[in-house]
Amino acid sequence: MRAFQLVGWQQPPELREVPAPEPGPGQVLVKVGGAGACHSDLHIMEAPGPPPGFATELPFTLGHENAGWVETLGPGVTGFAPGDPVMVYGPWGCGMCANCREGQENYCQKVSGQGGGLGGGHDGGMAEYLLVPTARFLIPLGTLDPRQAAPLTDAGLTSYHAVKRSVHLLGAGSTAVVIGVGGLGQMAIQMVRALSAATTVVAVDTDAGKLETAKHMGADEALLSGEDAVTRIKDMTGQQGAQLVLDMVGIDPTLRMAAQVATVLGHLTIVGLGGGALPVNFSNPPHECSVASPYWGSLPELMEVITLAQQQKIKMLLEHFPLERANEAYQLLHDGKIQGRAVITP
Ligand code: NAD
Ligand code: ZN
Repeated sequence: MRAFQLVGWQQPPELREVPAPEPGPGQVLVKVGGAGACHSDLHIMEAPGPPPGFATELPFTLGHENAGWVETLGPGVTGFAPGDPVMVYGPWGCGMCANCREGQENYCQKVSGQGGGLGGGHDGGMAEYLLVPTARFLIPLGTLDPRQAAPLTDAGLTSYHAVKRSVHLLGAGSTAVVIGVGGLGQMAIQMVRALSAATTVVAVDTDAGKLETAKHMGADEALLSGEDAVTRIKDMTGQQGAQLVLDMVGIDPTLRMAAQVATVLGHLTIVGLGGGALPVNFSNPPHECSVASPYWGSLPELMEVITLAQQQKIKMLLEHFPLERANEAYQLLHDGKIQGRAVITP
């Protein structure tokens, strides 16, 4: 089968011919319908060597945002049948530790929680078939089309998890700010709308097109990134700042901005892996503003995200690319030319 693989650090991935995997006991072979191209993959490709927690062995197949159809069940697997449309949960944990037993396999205590799983050391879904180690990682999609639903497993789930942990702050009259409204940010805006009573959602980006899209996704205000955005958000909130600030970029300037526009007792949540540093002292971020850096989301949360999609409460702007054009899709993502999410369809 064809697989889009990382063959060397800081080298463009390559489409290669590899043997199709065969599912062993407990495993499931999934025919890939769609594999989302996430900005995290660009961080991986641009890294000088394996990021923490990654397998050092190359090559591996990219793609951690996958949905498809059950192709073959390994010996002993029950509960699914060939042809079933499924979502593949990405942060593969051990299943046995306390966090995994709560469904939070993104914070498995045995497996590194920082990206060593699917599409980051284990072969991912940018191939015709994806070998899933256990049926526990499959969630039925119901009426959703895998080609449309794939980005829900990361862009959807990560945004959902990042917003849900702060919903208690987002009562009527509150403000949420989303910095960086690409694939994840557009989802985050909709998650704030779907989960909370927040009165105002502010989108911030450097790209006017993304800001226009953000308004269609439910943002009340769309601001170009910079000092003027800080002033505007302060003015809108009576100089108090926002209850929740989500930084989906994570570089020095956005982290600085995030601290400036967050309120006392608020949440400043870093989702972007831009590698910047947040300057912290006694009054910056504001007093008792909590800072968190959530990673992906839990299995039960992915089920909730699928429910939201089935209820048509969240939608995504998608562009589909065949495997042969995966490098082109990543180049467009790198250049900021993907309006929502690129999905590779083998
Ligand atoms: P994307 O490229 O689709 O979106 C990024 C957006 O940020 C773009 O719209 C871009 O114009 C905007 N941007 C860039 N610089 C900016 C600035 N200075 N100010 C405001 N906006 C700016 O990327 P994505 O796939 O949505 O991923 C976003 C980030 O989230 C990436 O760093 C990715 O690695 C990370 N990520 C984290 C997790 C996690 O578990 N924490 C999961 C998935 C992705
Ligand atoms: Zn991702």
